[in-house]
Amino acid sequence: MCGREIDFIRAGLAEDWAVPLGPDCDAFEQELENFVGGTKRVAALVSGTAAVHLALVACGVGAGDEVIVQTFTFCASSHPVTYLGAVPVFVDSEKDSWNMDPDMLEAAIRDRIAKTGKTPKAIIPVALYGMPYRIDRIMEIADRYGIPVIEDAAEGFGSTFRGQTLGTFGRYGVLSFNGNKMITTSGGGALICPDEASRNEIMWYATQARESYPYYQHEAIGYNYRMSNICAGIGRGQMTVADEHIAHHRHVQSLYEELLKDVEGITMHTNPGPEYDSNFWLCTATLDPELKVKGQENAYRQVVTGAVGGAAGVTHATSTAVTDCQPNDNVEAMRMALDAAGIESRPLWKPMHKQPVYRNNPAYTNGVSESLFATGICLPAGPWVTDEQVRYIVATIRESIL
Ligand SMILES: *Cc1c(COP(=O)(O)O)cnc(C)c1O
Repeated sequence: MCGREIDFIRAGLAEDWAVPLGPDCDAFEQELENFVGGTKRVAALVSGTAAVHLALVACGVGAGDEVIVQTFTFCASSHPVTYLGAVPVFVDSEKDSWNMDPDMLEAAIRDRIAKTGKTPKAIIPVALYGMPYRIDRIMEIADRYGIPVIEDAAEGFGSTFRGQTLGTFGRYGVLSFNGNKMITTSGGGALICPDEASRNEIMWYATQARESYPYYQHEAIGYNYRMSNICAGIGRGQMTVADEHIAHHRHVQSLYEELLKDVEGITMHTNPGPEYDSNFWLCTATLDPELKVKGQENAYRQVVTGAVGGAAGVTHATSTAVTDCQPNDNVEAMRMALDAAGIESRPLWKPMHKQPVYRNNPAYTNGVSESLFATGICLPAGPWVTDEQVRYIVATIRESIL
């Protein structure tokens, strides 16, 4: 918390807006609409996952349908497809942006039509670590086949492609305000909608899909997904520092780029061209498989307890230290070396098509996401990371190399 969150919450509570609805929800949505450029309408929801879910509902996704999802992502991009009884079809990434490969997307669409006789119901590209996807090409292909695009910009709050804010290109755009995202409402998300009518439809689904009678009358299945007024108050406080946060993430990224540029075997993930302006929500790097890191012969010797990266929630205990798809030994050794120095890093996200729960899903792959998962690492980035700490992190990285 660093903005004026407490002021907004106190003012809301003083006027008895502890109930879910209230003026801060409306104001927060208005502020978000302005932030993304003023041409769209925004619905504030309980999470980014809920936003993905409702966007799919609004695109008419139902049991047996297929939805194309970037495989290199966090599970919240694809799980809501499964909630609806539909099938995520995974598409791999291109090398430079790390996000959905447009050529592979088109090949996948053609192949699904050939194999099933049906066109996929939606396409979900993901701004992984904040990096924009090749949205001009993705939109061109999607429009040609008449498939709506749901942009998962949960990690890409404030990132732009050719100067336009992510989340405003597709029919819907997903934002997340989870505790670890660019801005937080302690837990929350939003859906960027094309117009007032579609925002109303989303809000209707988000508030249990009630018909207008003096009693509860339901003609569709709804959800309890509306953001509470208290969370929106936190969001309003965060909006006062959003630009600062993004600028700081970009600053930390540029410092890593500068300090790591002459370290052989370590490559920072950077904006691949002038069209891209990542928010650098997370700063990421890849390690050359030939790079030797101290202690790598001992990587994966121990079963991990709890989730790597301090993820909130409950994890199942596991009995094996390894899986058939995991980061290289030198990456795990680097993670352990940083950890020993009090620095939290973590692997890149494991591609969905390699997750056991999706083992039977169709996947169109080119090796890019698997290779990134094997070689990549997320370095500390965030509003509280100082220049001095970045220097300490880079020094620790240098020391850990043999
Ligand atoms: C965080 C995240 C989401 C979901 O957001 P929650 O608010 O945590 O539900 C969706 N997609 C991606 C890529 C994310 O990183």
